[in-house]
Amino acid sequence: MYFVGKFKTIGENMTDYNKLAQLLFPDIDKTPDYYEALYPPRDLKEGARVTRLAPSPTGFLHFGNLFAAMTSYKTAKVSDGIFYIRVEDTDQKRKIEGAVEVMLEGLSAYGVCADEGVMADSSQKGSYGPYIQSERKEIYHTYAKHLVAQGLAYPCFCSADELDEIRTQQENEDIKGYYGKYAKCRMLSLEEIKENINAGKTWTLRLKSPGDINKKCCFDDMIKGKIEMPENIIDVVLLKTDGIPTYHFAHAVDDHLMRTTHVIRGDEWIASVALHLQLFRVLGFKPVKYAHIAPIMKAEGDGKRKLSKRKDPEAAVTYYKQEGYPSAAVNEYMMTIMNSNFEDWRKVNKTADINSFPFNLKKMSVSGALFDIAKLTDVSKNVISIMTADEVFALSYEWAKEFSPKLTALYEQDKAYAKAVLNIDRGNKKPRKDIAKWSDILDYISYMYDESFEENYELTGNADYKLAVQVLKLYKNIVDINDDKDTWFNKIKEICPSVGCTPNVKAFKQNPDAFKGHVGDVSTIIRVALTGRTNTPDLFAITALLGAEKVQNRIDRAIQFYEGAK
Ligand code: GLU
Repeated sequence: MYFVGKFKTIGENMTDYNKLAQLLFPDIDKTPDYYEALYPPRDLKEGARVTRLAPSPTGFLHFGNLFAAMTSYKTAKVSDGIFYIRVEDTDQKRKIEGAVEVMLEGLSAYGVCADEGVMADSSQKGSYGPYIQSERKEIYHTYAKHLVAQGLAYPCFCSADELDEIRTQQENEDIKGYYGKYAKCRMLSLEEIKENINAGKTWTLRLKSPGDINKKCCFDDMIKGKIEMPENIIDVVLLKTDGIPTYHFAHAVDDHLMRTTHVIRGDEWIASVALHLQLFRVLGFKPVKYAHIAPIMKAEGDGKRKLSKRKDPEAAVTYYKQEGYPSAAVNEYMMTIMNSNFEDWRKVNKTADINSFPFNLKKMSVSGALFDIAKLTDVSKNVISIMTADEVFALSYEWAKEFSPKLTALYEQDKAYAKAVLNIDRGNKKPRKDIAKWSDILDYISYMYDESFEENYELTGNADYKLAVQVLKLYKNIVDINDDKDTWFNKIKEICPSVGCTPNVKAFKQNPDAFKGHVGDVSTIIRVALTGRTNTPDLFAITALLGAEKVQNRIDRAIQFYEGAK
């Protein structure tokens, strides 16, 4: 590490600083050098990026958290770097038991698995730990002591009332906070500090900010570009009265010692970058690179707003699991809003593994990606349409066991039958896109089971009830589920002339008055009788799978209906 002597207040007494450091942190016997050696720079190839996710254990995984996690993960992966997870549990009030496990499980369902840090089973892996901030107190105190010894931090004994009073005094000031003439405790002598401590007063540790209000802090954000803001002049709190670090201090110490190269986080932190870079400097650390992600937006009316945990069910990552969106589809969709060139890449690399896409931080939206559930639905239909029936069955069965007893029961009657049903029209050149999520399946396959088949005899096109009776009576006698597809279809065509229809759609179009309908209308009648729907996948496959008994029963019931309705 390099030494930042220029920040020491000129003419101050270094012996006093050392004494003060010893007074405040009597139990700390390590030095920053100890930790520098313990956590050496990582031995990675040139250009490898080390990123992290630093969740606070609140238990709620927002889609924005998954998005940020994926961004960090991809950034590390495309550079053969390291992605790790550090739990930021310094705010004990917000801490919820078991929350970390819930979050990590949520992330791992989308393939965001850490190389090191806190693992989904809450164990810790890696040689840069501990990766839970509440276990790192001694490390923070070592660096805090070091800052005090150099005159770069000091204890503040101001009570909550005194701080309130400062706030009141600053009502008309542009810059608010503990600085300049307001930073009373900056001026305390060692003797005064000792007196306060002996009197049992609690203290926070503050940074003695070396910032100059007339100077600018400039940095190049990997997503937002060049940013300029005034230097930090506030003597921010580094350690709270209970000795626990603030986010700012822990961020600098942890990201340095864990050898993070790129800090990717929500843009609510962007205003703190001047402070963070200053902390890196006074601590003698090489600064990290920052990439600030704008919040995920949602269209509303003519404008847009943030995707909200309160208003939008899809803000919770659990929503996708409950609805049964396959994680591959969510990932695919996420990438379309994460990198503007992903869709073009996908067009040329239709079946390529998503992990081979060259993700790039610089292609991220500056103003916030727009979330659109209709688009997710389309993407998901595509993803599911190219899965095999075995995959669809396995993934939806797993989902059903947790969320749909009805689908589970249908599947468990006969798994091979269920797979065969899901296999209808799969593998076609233009696969059907009926299923967007596993919760759609129950309806999609309902007519393949008597217990969920819903009779509905409404017809479309040229078909009417009278024609239906004629068609079904003929079809009933000739349908044979052992026929091959051509034989089956020829039989349907053969019905046509006997009921005043033509097997030739073109012929019908040329002379519609000559016929009651065409082969499409005849098929519709059969389709409706067997499935209760006018639009289904391949009717031949449906007929064969239903089997002779169901086919006969359903035709009989349809004839009954149409005759009764005449
Ligand atoms: N614990 C912080 C948060 O939850 C993490 C911010 C960061 O990534 O540095 O907002």
